[in-house]
Amino acid sequence: MMIAADDATRLRKAGYVIVGSHSAAKVCLWTKRALLDRGFCYKQKFYGISSHRCLQMTPTLPFCTQRCVFCWRSTKLFSTKWEGAVDEPDEIIDGCIDAQRLLLNGFKGHPDINIAKFREAQNPNQAAISLDGEPTLYPKIGEMITEFKRRGFTTFLVTNGTRPKTLASLPTLPTNLYVSSCAPDEAAYKKTCAPTIKDGWKRLNETLELFPSLKTRKVMRLTLVKGLNLKDANGYAKLVAKAEPDFVEAKAYMALGASRLRLGPDYMPTHEEIRAFAKELADASGYKYKDEQTESRVVLLCK
Ligand code: SF4
Ligand code: SF4
Repeated sequence: MMIAADDATRLRKAGYVIVGSHSAAKVCLWTKRALLDRGFCYKQKFYGISSHRCLQMTPTLPFCTQRCVFCWRSTKLFSTKWEGAVDEPDEIIDGCIDAQRLLLNGFKGHPDINIAKFREAQNPNQAAISLDGEPTLYPKIGEMITEFKRRGFTTFLVTNGTRPKTLASLPTLPTNLYVSSCAPDEAAYKKTCAPTIKDGWKRLNETLELFPSLKTRKVMRLTLVKGLNLKDANGYAKLVAKAEPDFVEAKAYMALGASRLRLGPDYMPTHEEIRAFAKELADASGYKYKDEQTESRVVLLCK
């Protein structure tokens, strides 16, 4: 599937570099901040990766099985089924690293640049496969994770959980496997995640049931929208019990990109609201408070 010309223009303006026919890279805000010694993302604090060496990319720019109301993309442009060319993993990775270097170049002259970090950043060693779309729709996702690993990268894969069969057959598991579980029940799921497949909720639950058998670090991510899915901690606790993840991240919806047209700042929970909800979830699930980051409005629970 071709990326529509107007979408491509919008994406470029938003800082994306399109790689091949269906992939893209974008320098994460936290990578930029880390390069200027102005902080780092909560995953550096929680999981020990280096924000300045993180490559944020996606192999599925135009493909997703959901149209979440909180998504920062124009979700109506997503296609559910794969169409068109399937680029090779090593070409995509090479292209994304080149894109990252190109994008970082603009920072070289910045007065606050940390030159040692800038040099290190030329060779990323952590891939966040999560930027846009549902990455498990990429027919070679397993080979891509294997190729990243071969090159010495740690990998974070974020799935919306609608592709359990693909997850079950991955030849190499990512370092962190994230599943977005953004509703406590089917009705809230349909409203929040607007799946474009018939059995999205069933498939998400299949993924959660599969989770305990996947031997890697597993994280359940709850993106919480005020007045929509920030409710029913007991319902979420049942999902946590099913998946037995190592960590649960309760994270506030942030009004970014196209989501501002659907939701906007009024739907953003405060950090205090996230903290209160995380406490309810901890009580209901038996998980323990581990850490939090105020700026990203996220609280981490662990088993
Ligand atoms: S792990 Fe995520 S938030 Fe952290 S630097 Fe990478 S893309 Fe950004
Ligand atoms: S699953 Fe991710 S990419 Fe797909 S619509 Fe939801 S937030 Fe956007």
